[in-house]
Amino acid sequence: MPEPLLALDGLGKQFGGVQAVRDLSFHVGEAEIVGLIGPNGSGKSTSVNLISGTLPPTAGDIRFAGASVARLSVSERVPLGLARTFQTTSVFPEFTVREQVLTACHARFRTSALGSVFRSASARQEERAQRAKTEELLHFVGLSGVIDQPASAISSAQQRLLMIATALATEPRLLLLDEPAAGMVAKERKDLAGLIQRIRERGTAVLVIEHHMGLIMEVCSRIVVLNFGQKIAEGTPAEIQQNPVVIDAYLGGAH
Ligand code: ADP
Ligand code: MG
Repeated sequence: MPEPLLALDGLGKQFGGVQAVRDLSFHVGEAEIVGLIGPNGSGKSTSVNLISGTLPPTAGDIRFAGASVARLSVSERVPLGLARTFQTTSVFPEFTVREQVLTACHARFRTSALGSVFRSASARQEERAQRAKTEELLHFVGLSGVIDQPASAISSAQQRLLMIATALATEPRLLLLDEPAAGMVAKERKDLAGLIQRIRERGTAVLVIEHHMGLIMEVCSRIVVLNFGQKIAEGTPAEIQQNPVVIDAYLGGAH
């Protein structure tokens, strides 16, 4: 059996007295869509922060594409094919939609500083390729119509799509989505579900955190459930929906 694309092994994160994530193990296969769900405060965002490298773990290991990445910085993980979006939208307000994605393309395929200064033929060719890729990505996520608008002027649902396009510009093998449907209306969530499936069809695996069970149940082949920082269940959408431990965790949280 080849190693899965992402494998968490006994991962833990402690903030002072708070054990935000405890002994967490699960995997994401190549071009698989996995859901990470759980009540508020159950450790979902912390898990994404640990996987992406925003936070160092206090226990356990993270293996990605066959090697441990647990001690690598975010900028060391991105070139390996790990990209993420944030729970809150984060766009550069002074940039246009196009410029924001183009900047991410540049970060991925930086020509030598000297080549850029002299505008060598290969640098110009690369610039053209990045511009074409930017347009392709914005078309792919459905933002062609606002490509030259300021990133701050588009709707919050469109800003979420822009975060996805920006993450895809780094050509990830695994895309981490932290509540991508937050603030979206039903039609926008439906379109997002289609987009997540098309991202998988491009060959990128997706780990998606989401409150909207409809979206999770529709797109995920497997779901991992957290409660108080620990994995309490893992299975197919059908298995998770019928799991009494999961139902209890959600109802318990609501009471
Ligand atoms: P979720 O995304 O599932 O809602 P989080 O991962 O954001 O949950 O939080 C899990 C727990 O860790 C919560 O109790 C939260 O208060 C705590 N926590 C998260 N981030 C920090 C931090 N930077 N410092 C201290 N505690 C934190
Ligand atoms: Mg969260």
